[in-house]
Amino acid sequence: MTVRRTLPQRTRSLIGAWCFVDHYGPDDVSVTGGMDVAPHPHTGLQTVSWLFSGEIEHRDSLGSHAMVRPGELNLMTGGHGISHTEVSTPATTELHGVQLWVALPDADRHADRDFQHYAPEPVTVDGARIQVFLGELAGSASPVRTFTPLLGAELVLAPRAHVTLTVDPAFEHGLLVDRGTVSLTGTPLAQAELGYAPPGRDTLTLINDTDAPARVILLGGPPFGEEIIMWWNFIARSTEEIVEARRDWMEGDGRRFGEVTGYDGDPLPAPELPNVPLKLRGNRH
Ligand code: MN
Repeated sequence: MTVRRTLPQRTRSLIGAWCFVDHYGPDDVSVTGGMDVAPHPHTGLQTVSWLFSGEIEHRDSLGSHAMVRPGELNLMTGGHGISHTEVSTPATTELHGVQLWVALPDADRHADRDFQHYAPEPVTVDGARIQVFLGELAGSASPVRTFTPLLGAELVLAPRAHVTLTVDPAFEHGLLVDRGTVSLTGTPLAQAELGYAPPGRDTLTLINDTDAPARVILLGGPPFGEEIIMWWNFIARSTEEIVEARRDWMEGDGRRFGEVTGYDGDPLPAPELPNVPLKLRGNRH
């Protein structure tokens, strides 16, 4: 599949606690075969799955077995360790969505594994239809628990819409354009681009100056004040912790990562570690 990794990038590692933004599709998976990700681990992060089209079957080592569908949030907490599989269903023809990661703060990064599902009721403001899957926007609040304040929402902007949203001035924001072209507080963004707005604003203005609807994902949170190491599917604070997580996974440490049942296939092996210390990343202000 075509995956566009818009975060992290060279000039920015995080937006709030959001540390990874993959945007994929639309792909005709009846031709490409779709998504089939064998058991793999996570630590120190939450994964957020949000689809525009298609369906993915999720299984994890908590025993969760859930379908990821358009308009429904699946949020998995890796904490100290979890493993999971993701497989697009046979009925899926077009697969299109985002895979997002949230870094856990130091105090909570060894939390118990967890899985939450939520289908937000869409709300309408003048010019936009909004589904708030994390945090609060336009009078809609998500009940999903996170470890730092976060915003995550899908907005569909009507043709020629000018939408001003009230936001928390302590938050920085990112705007991923899925379809169309949209300007974020004066900065034009093309399809698949990620815009950034620093903290200190109590409104964000989104403008769709075209005759077609546009679709965006709005992310936000207060700047994450910690540096992290991201390697493969792990987030940690030191190279030693990454080495340990990799070893635990490769040794099949069921205590740390648990076991996924119901998936037909072998777990994914971790890649080889580089021979140099891994780099801490963060956003210094
Ligand atoms: Mn995963």
